[in-house]
Amino acid sequence: MDISFILDDLNDAQRQAVTLDESHGLILAGAGSGKTRVLVHRIAWLTKVMGYSPYNILAVTFTNKAANEMRGRVENLIGQQAGGLTMGTFHGIAYRILRQHYQDANLPNNFQILDADDQKRVLKRLLKAMELDEAQWPVKQVQAFINGEKEEGRRPHHIEIGHNPYVAKLVEIYKEYEELCQRGGLVDFAELLLRAHELWLKKPHILGHYQARFRHILVDEFQDTNTLQYAWLRVLAGASGKLFVVGDDDQSIYGWRGARVENIRQFDQDFAGTLMVRLEQNYRSTGTILKAANALISHNDSRMGKQLWSAGEEGDPILLYEAFNEFDEARYVTSQIENWVEQGGQRDEVAVLYRSNAQSRMIEQALMQAQIPYRVYGGLRFYDRAEVKDVLAYLRLVVNREDDAAFERVYNHPPRGIGQKTADSIRQVARDQQISLWQASQMLLENSLKARAKTAVQGFIDLIEQLQDALHAQDLEQQFVKTISLSGLQAHFEKDQSEQGQGRLENLDELISAAAQFDNRAKQQTAAGINTEESVMAAEDESVRLDGTTLIDNPEQSTLEEFLAQSALEAGEQQADAWESCVQLMTMHSAKGLEFPLVFMIGMEEGLFPSQQSQEDASRLEEERRLAYVGITRAEKQLIMTFAQRRRLHGSEFFPVMSRFIKEIPPEYIQEVRLSGRVQPTMEREGSAGFTSSARQNETGFQIGERVSHAKFGDGIVLNYEGSGEHARIHVNFTEFGSKWLVLAYARLEKR
Ligand code: ATP
Ligand code: MG
Repeated sequence: MDISFILDDLNDAQRQAVTLDESHGLILAGAGSGKTRVLVHRIAWLTKVMGYSPYNILAVTFTNKAANEMRGRVENLIGQQAGGLTMGTFHGIAYRILRQHYQDANLPNNFQILDADDQKRVLKRLLKAMELDEAQWPVKQVQAFINGEKEEGRRPHHIEIGHNPYVAKLVEIYKEYEELCQRGGLVDFAELLLRAHELWLKKPHILGHYQARFRHILVDEFQDTNTLQYAWLRVLAGASGKLFVVGDDDQSIYGWRGARVENIRQFDQDFAGTLMVRLEQNYRSTGTILKAANALISHNDSRMGKQLWSAGEEGDPILLYEAFNEFDEARYVTSQIENWVEQGGQRDEVAVLYRSNAQSRMIEQALMQAQIPYRVYGGLRFYDRAEVKDVLAYLRLVVNREDDAAFERVYNHPPRGIGQKTADSIRQVARDQQISLWQASQMLLENSLKARAKTAVQGFIDLIEQLQDALHAQDLEQQFVKTISLSGLQAHFEKDQSEQGQGRLENLDELISAAAQFDNRAKQQTAAGINTEESVMAAEDESVRLDGTTLIDNPEQSTLEEFLAQSALEAGEQQADAWESCVQLMTMHSAKGLEFPLVFMIGMEEGLFPSQQSQEDASRLEEERRLAYVGITRAEKQLIMTFAQRRRLHGSEFFPVMSRFIKEIPPEYIQEVRLSGRVQPTMEREGSAGFTSSARQNETGFQIGERVSHAKFGDGIVLNYEGSGEHARIHVNFTEFGSKWLVLAYARLEKR
């Protein structure tokens, strides 16, 4: 068989990794060195050469988008056969397993996934019911505690309380929360994994089934696995499964969410016979971008140490633009994107990366004005939008009346006269009787409610029942159309004439299209006989049936339930279809693993990036630096960084200083850009500046090196100047506020 297509486009080290024969493989390598490529080619190697069935392979990726991309790449290599592979995120795979074995996992057949937002809502209500003051028990902290414990694999009874009353209370909340979720058939993200893990430990025959099945387990972005995920992999691999993990300690950026980079160091101790392969050639970026990234990350102390080199061309310097404010920054980014497109570039080759989601709004506005199509990836995620969640909540309630989170969301939305007092008594009954809000409402209807409240509650109950009837035998698209109109949400948003109201209606339309698309895809797959993860999981397996176990008890899951689960799992990643020619906006976190010819990193300012909170903590600062390394190494050809002298964010005004991460890149790789679009030949730094301007006419009345003072920024030294007349600008290094370009006409500088 000709297998050259699997190995031809690989270098020696990559080939060694792909064809690895040892028990386990650990591929430790820097950004853009082909880790993900190696993983894809290894799947081809295992199936085409080693003769494994795709059914025997499990590939774990960090996002659903990455899983889809990987599936596409594997299909390119080995054709339709790839259909039998199991690929997905830890959460997605755990979900499939729990669905398959819901009874053994002690879950109702229609259990629902709680996303972070729902979880917060449930906790809020619980705290209230427990009469705990939110000021003392902030929901966010309680949520972080519970998720953190789950991610360490701990149930309430595992937690050592000691004599700490604070911890004791948190554990009590955790316990109540668990009971509430169990009653409502609600499963949060961390629970998905923990439940699946416990299921395996409690039911060895189920574990045995998966161990026999997944002979090869491949994991991308291994540096970001947490304790529970690592334990999960260990259990699943068992004595005979072969693990193949790829990662980069310098790109570990989820420490704040429990990821443990130590898992890499631990790996060859826990998995005997591991062969470690290092990849050192970068194929993604120009020499300049790569050297800048290497220089930056060398400022971190705790590293495993790696070399990265590129055989590619040096490429253009990194451009650095110092904006007046966030508007100017957004304008500059937009104009550079226009240039890129004018010169024949595609919009989807461009990514704008930022540290925090709030920064996207300005860029979005500027892009909209310039009529440049864009997508926000992550962040303002489609399935996170309030109106979308409203519709989904109605549907969730139709599917599962016990879903208290959904009940809370819509019982009086749109308003139907169920007041706070009535709602409180429903909650009270639910709590006293240990029943769902739905059951509590019905119980209340039978006795104590006043006439008006009774009508209102009855109206809601009838509505859900009526919806259920109306949805019966309809296709998914019609189910959404009907829900949106019968629930009253459509009329409710139609009343709102504002742009926001219009936007909400557009989102509802988009939701209907998403449902239609989803339905079509499901039908096509059935028609073509393509194995989805679900159907593969359900595939009959002789050996298991011979044991007389009930693994094949596959619950009939409706397309609607499937859709609801997908929307909770994928939140926002689903937009991929319509994405082709759009500029992509995303946080640096969500850019992990991706690559783009042109990358912008905006808001490169102290306090923003590195974030304020990381400034006093050395390990957090190192994590921020790794995030910067991730950002820089996304760029293939051109990298542009911006920062602003003045920024309004979260409602306050800041006068930030350029990020230390820029200073950590050697100046020879950076070229500073001026407002006019002219590029300066060298970059000035505080203290060393001024030499580039000697040949220019000085119309400012100030001399380089002169001491000046400014009403707001205080004292400083003139570094440089440019332009003339009303456009004249002056560059001053202020003792307290760092260096700034000021428009001379407005600056009112005084000589000192
Ligand atoms: P990251 O750490 O960012 O996830 P990575 O190590 O996973 O990066 P890949 O995305 O697999 O790297 O590869 C980076 C780029 O280099 C891709 O465009 C890939 O196709 C290309 N590439 C990798 N190896 C080779 C090779 N041997 N020949 C040509 N191109 C390659
Ligand atoms: Mg990768």
